[in-house]
Amino acid sequence: MQVFNFCAGPAMLPVEVMQKAQAEMLDWQHQGVSVMEVSHRSAEFIELAHNAETNLRQLLNVPDDYHVLFMHGGGRGQFAAIAMNLLGESGKALYLNSGQWSKAAAVEARRFAQVDELSIVESMEGKQQVVLPELKSDMGDYRYLHYCPNETVDGIEIHEPINSPWPVIADMSSCILSRPIDVSQFGLIYAGAQKNIGPSGLSLVIVKKSLLELPALPMPSIMDYRITAANESMFNTPPTYALYLAANVFQWLQQQGGIEAMGLKNQRKADELYAYIEQSHFYRSGVAATNRSRMNVTFQLADESLNGEFLAQAKARGLLALKGHRAVGGMRASIYNAMPHQGVVALIAFMDEFARNN
Ligand SMILES: *Cc1c(COP(=O)(O)O)cnc(C)c1O
Repeated sequence: MQVFNFCAGPAMLPVEVMQKAQAEMLDWQHQGVSVMEVSHRSAEFIELAHNAETNLRQLLNVPDDYHVLFMHGGGRGQFAAIAMNLLGESGKALYLNSGQWSKAAAVEARRFAQVDELSIVESMEGKQQVVLPELKSDMGDYRYLHYCPNETVDGIEIHEPINSPWPVIADMSSCILSRPIDVSQFGLIYAGAQKNIGPSGLSLVIVKKSLLELPALPMPSIMDYRITAANESMFNTPPTYALYLAANVFQWLQQQGGIEAMGLKNQRKADELYAYIEQSHFYRSGVAATNRSRMNVTFQLADESLNGEFLAQAKARGLLALKGHRAVGGMRASIYNAMPHQGVVALIAFMDEFARNN
C-alpha cells in the first residue's frame, strides 16, 4: 500500500532525497563512513555547507547584501533570537497576529523587549479572513514588523506583500521554498527546517546585513547572528545530518525546476483540494477563499462526530496524520513541496468515498 503522510511537521521529505540518504548512509563520498561521523571542519563537509548556501541563494534569488545563516533551535529558537538580535536595549517591535504561530512569536519576543500586537484576522460569515491594516510610521517607533505569512495550525495564508514602514520579518517555517518570493522586500526571513527544508533541529535565517549594525542585547553566542555570520554558520558544531539532508532537498528542488515550477505544482494541489471541499456539503473550510493556505489545508466534517471514523479509515488507506492541531480541531492536510500530486488525488478520492458512505 502506498502511504501518503500529511503531517504538518516534522513533515514528509522527498522520496528521492530519502533514497539518496539511504544509499549513502554507511559510505559518504567514498570515505567509508557516514556524513554523521565526519568533522564539520573537514574539507568535504565545508564543501557541502557551501553548496547548500549557494543552492539556496540561487533558488530564492537572495541578494548579496543578505546573510544566509544555518542555525540551531528550530522556529521557536528564532522567536527569541530575532528579539535579542534586533531590538537592543530599548527597541520596540510590532507583531501582526494572524493565528497560533504569530501569537506565539509575540509571546516569546515579550520576554526580551516591548512588543505591540495587532490582530489582523476577522471572522466573516463564519470564515476567517485577514484584513491588513494600513501601517504608518507614526504608529510607533518600531525596529521591525513581524508576521507569519503561513499559519500552519490555522491554515491561513497571507498572499499579498506587507506594506510596512519598518523592516519586515517573516516566519516562513511552513511556506519557505513553496513559491517565488522577493527577498529584497524583507528585513529577515526565517524558517524551522522540518516542513519544507529537511529534518527538525535546523533553522534557516536570511537577514539583511544592515539590520545587524545596531548593538544587540547580550545573548548566547549560538543565537547571535553576527557571530554566526562571522563563522559561516559554524561557530559550534552545526546539526550536520540535518544540514546534509537540507542540502539534498535544495538540489532536489533544482532538479524539479526550481521554486517557480514548485509554486505551480503547489497551487494545483491546493486548488484541487479546495475545489473539492468547496463543492461538498459534507466538508467545509473555515477560512475565506482569499486566505486559504496552499501548504496546510484545514477543513471540518459537517458532522464532527464522524471525525474518529474519518481518521481511522484514512489511516487504513495509507493517508496519515490528517488530524487537525489540538488548538483548532477538525482536519488538516499538509501538502508541502514533497507531497506528490498523486497524494492529493488519493485524499480527494477517499474523502469522496467517505462522504458517500456516510
Ligand atoms: C512549526 C512552526 C514553528 C515552530 O517550529 P519549532 O521548530 O517547533 O520551534 C514556528 N512557526 C511556524 C509558522 C511553524 O509552522
